[in-house]
Order: sequence, then structure tokens, then C-alpha cells
Amino acid sequence: MSELTSVSQAQALIAEHMPSFGSELVPLDEAVGRILRQAVRAEHDHPPFDRVMMDGIATRWSQGMPRRLAVAGAQMAGMPRQSLPSGDACLEVTTGAMLPAGCDCVIPIEQLRRDGGDYLLSDECQPQAGQFIHRQASDCAQGSLLLSPGMRLGPAEMALLAANGVAKVEVAVMPSIAIVSTGDELVNVDAPLGEGQIRRSNDTAVRAMLRLEGFARVAMEHIVDDEAATRERIAELLDRHDVLLLSGGVSMGQRDYVPAALAAQGVRKVFHRIAQKPGKPMWFGIGPRGQAVFALPGNPVSALVCATRYARPALLAAQGIPVSAPEHVVLDSEVDINPTLVSFVPARVQTDASGRSMAYPVPSRTSGDFSSLPRTHGFIELPSGQGKAPAGTVATFYRW
Ligand code: AMP
Ligand code: MG
Repeated sequence: MSELTSVSQAQALIAEHMPSFGSELVPLDEAVGRILRQAVRAEHDHPPFDRVMMDGIATRWSQGMPRRLAVAGAQMAGMPRQSLPSGDACLEVTTGAMLPAGCDCVIPIEQLRRDGGDYLLSDECQPQAGQFIHRQASDCAQGSLLLSPGMRLGPAEMALLAANGVAKVEVAVMPSIAIVSTGDELVNVDAPLGEGQIRRSNDTAVRAMLRLEGFARVAMEHIVDDEAATRERIAELLDRHDVLLLSGGVSMGQRDYVPAALAAQGVRKVFHRIAQKPGKPMWFGIGPRGQAVFALPGNPVSALVCATRYARPALLAAQGIPVSAPEHVVLDSEVDINPTLVSFVPARVQTDASGRSMAYPVPSRTSGDFSSLPRTHGFIELPSGQGKAPAGTVATFYRW
């Protein structure tokens, strides 16, 4: 039997062996939700010119300036720059227009009264030099760094790409992922349940997790508990996909064919079995073309814990997203720990009145008991030790 790998070693080994899926250029409107793999700098100053901020008039400010200004023309948004002929004149302006040459003051329409060919400043209007002008480069100068590799492209990032002329965007290639359930006892969600059968659910859970992270190229497969079939199907799947996420068949049982079948197809084992509970049987390896293969245990809590703790962060990191430090929480009540294994304990988290993130453990009775998981936000990770982790213990927390 192989040695147990520690949780931190398992994480480090995965990070060390994960392939990079590379990057590709996509049209801007296909980039939303993808992970940026280039730096984006300001194409020009923002704003690119001194810009009028209100509808009204533009004029030249001076101490005791005239309160009647003759309309000498108009400077509408989108027009090339006009000029103010004299200090007792004004140009009609709209929001977004260039500030006309010779002007340094914009007076909003609400503070004006039209009188024939002139505007009169209302009594309460006390103009200041420079008012209602958004100065060139005051948001950022040409060449400033706006977006960095590793950012996910949401609405604000998309706006910056559009505003800076990035019609084609370099993003991380989305890996093709196969989620593979194994087991003769498993049937589809809509099939009749025979004696000794259960519905498969790990594949649905893992696909949901990946979809929420934007992974769109995900296929679902099922393999029966047969040695030759397991080998054949794994070979096919390795041909078609960059990542395999299997569940079940990875323990020591007579019908757990997955590790041997993976080895037979040239998937090199990086580790098998982690010193943790639940999820001890997890297997990880690298296929002949660099495919990442995560073989998760079949028990639903174990599968979800391992997918959350290892597979999801590894897939995100392989797309170029910087790995974030884990969250910390404070145990609200004592929790049993294991003398030799790291414990992962599902928990609900809530911020208390003093701003601390309190974790309310919801221990599952077995690693197959996933009925209480919907009332939890994730799981706490507790190092091995004697007895119990007391209330008040600070622990790392991983969200589903
Ligand atoms: P195994 O790791 O194949 O021995 O499976 C361990 C336990 O998890 C068994 O009770 C299986 O029925 C169950 N199991 C395996 N795969 C799934 C799945 N995809 N969905 C739900 N339960 C599963
Ligand atoms: Mg099985």
C-alpha cells in the first residue's frame, strides 16, 4: 500500500505538475467571463481631451466677468474643436463635447436664461474658473496599466477593453474536461431505480462547480465496473480531453479499477492517497499529452471536498488566475479531530457582531452523507491531533 501524501504536499505536487492550457485570441464579444492573458494599457489619455461635463455654455472666466454673453456658435459632442472669439461671447456646449479653445469655464443650462442671441447668467450663478471641465488624462494617462493577466473579464473589464480599442483579446484557452463517474450501481437522474441502485450525483456536482467558474467545455461520461471497459474508455477520454475528473473506483476494493487502468494508459501517478478525512483515496496523475487526471473518491462528500480543495483551484491556476490565500474562520464550537489525518469538516459561516467570521460545524456522519451539505458554505480544514479542536480555534476555510 502506498504512503499517504500530506494535504500540503498534494496541493504542491498538483501545482507543480499542472499543465498550462495556453492562450488564444478571441473577438471581444466572445471574451466575457474568460481569463485575460495579456496586459492592457490605455490606448490614449482618458479623457482624450478637456471634456465638457454639462449641457450649457462654455466661456472664458475672469474676475467680474460679464453676465451677458453673446452666442458665437456651438460645440456639440463629437465635433472637432471650435474657438471662442472673445471674452464676452460663449459657445453652446453639450456633455461630452471638447472644451472649445479659449474657454475654461462651463455654465450649466439650469443657471442661464436665453435672451435673443445672448445668454444671461442667473443671479445665483457664481462661476469658478475650470468648473464642469473633465481635464484631459485626469482619469489616466496614455500607456497606464489598466488590466493585468489573470483577471476574469466581467462588465467593467469588458468596458475598458472596448474603450481602449482591444477588438481581439488574448484569453486563457478553456480546457476540454471530461467528468467521469464509475460504478455499476449508478443510474441516471431520469432512469427507474432498480434494487441496489442509486442515482449518480458526483458528476452533476462537479459539473456545477466547474460551470460556476466559467468552464464551458465539459462532457459527462460514465464507466461501468469492468476492467477492460475502464481501460478502453479511459484511453478514448485521454484522446479527446485535456482534463479528466473521475469519481469512484479509486479505493482498494476488488472492483476499483481506475488507478490500474490509468497506469495502463500511460497516465503517470503523481500521488495516490492523501492523509485526510474524508477523501483519503484521491489519486492524481499526468497523462501522456500532459492531461491532468484527478481521480476523486466516489463518496459524495469526499468527491466534493477533493474537487473543491484540489481540482478547482488547480484548474483556475492553470488558466492564469493568481492563487488566493485561503479564508480564515473561528470555530464556534469544538470539533472532533483525527489523530493522524487532516479533517475537513463542512460548516456554515457567518460574520458575528464584532466582524469575525464564525464557523458553525455541520459534521456529516459519513463521507457518503451529503444531505446536510446544502446548509453549509464549505468546509474547515483542521490539522491532525489528539481529542478535539476547541471553540475559538482559527482554521482555514474553503468555500464550495
Ligand atoms: P467507490 O469509490 O467507487 O467505492 O464508491 C464509494 C461510494 O460512493 C459508493 O457508495 C458509491 O455508490 C458512491 N458513488 C460512487 N460514485 C458516485 C456518484 N457518481 N454519485 C453518487 N455516489 C457515488
Ligand atoms: Mg465504485
